[in-house]
Amino acid sequence: MGIPYAMEYIATVAGAALKLVQCEKCQAVYMYRMERQVQSSETSWLFVDGQGAENRAAARARQQLEQTLEHDCDPVPCPECGCYQEPMFAAVRQRHRRWMFYLGVLLLAISCVSPCQLATVSAKSQDPTVARQLLITVLLVSLMGGISLIMVRKLQSMNWDPNSADQDLKSRAAKSRAIPKAHIDKLVQAAKSLAESLIGLTNTEAEAIAYSHGFHYQVVMSDGECYPSTTGFAPNRINVALTDGRVTKAYIG
Ligand SMILES: [Zn+2]
Repeated sequence: MGIPYAMEYIATVAGAALKLVQCEKCQAVYMYRMERQVQSSETSWLFVDGQGAENRAAARARQQLEQTLEHDCDPVPCPECGCYQEPMFAAVRQRHRRWMFYLGVLLLAISCVSPCQLATVSAKSQDPTVARQLLITVLLVSLMGGISLIMVRKLQSMNWDPNSADQDLKSRAAKSRAIPKAHIDKLVQAAKSLAESLIGLTNTEAEAIAYSHGFHYQVVMSDGECYPSTTGFAPNRINVALTDGRVTKAYIG
């Protein structure tokens, strides 16, 4: 048994963001809520600075979550014309004919089990020829079938246009997730109220509340010092100014 010499700290954080999209085809504006969970770890070697490692893991997880929420996207079609946007294509293609991938993996698993069965049959049987031939056939068919299914599915997905999918399916996907422009103004109004409610809270409390409601959150100023921040109006982002660690100003944008 080895002597323990380190402790690994794992931090898991989850959050959500309201993603604003302008349709590439019909120019309609819509939003949807995207959720993500990320995990980060830090090691405390020789058990030194365990609290520091825990804090670093949490900070890195929060940073990764923020980047993921900023850059990632879900496949949510436009509620007006039903089109997926180009950045969403990879995610839609990943889900295309997934059954072929799972069936391929199942066949490969069968091909891995077959040699064991083959050895068992050969060892036990007086006349194992037929059983051996049968198992060899199963092994070859499952191996070739598994590889073929996975490869064919990969090639088909790469060349498949997500916007050629059934219009009803896309409309249903849009209805279940997309928030049309008509509702966005109401959301902005609600977001303004939320931003105002953050005033007086600590930075940690305000950040947690903003993320739990699906908003991005960024500190633009602390004790009079400006922080680097993302510019340009976004109705799904709350910007705050801090004084002594508490929110003194909060606004949407
Ligand atoms: Zn559209």
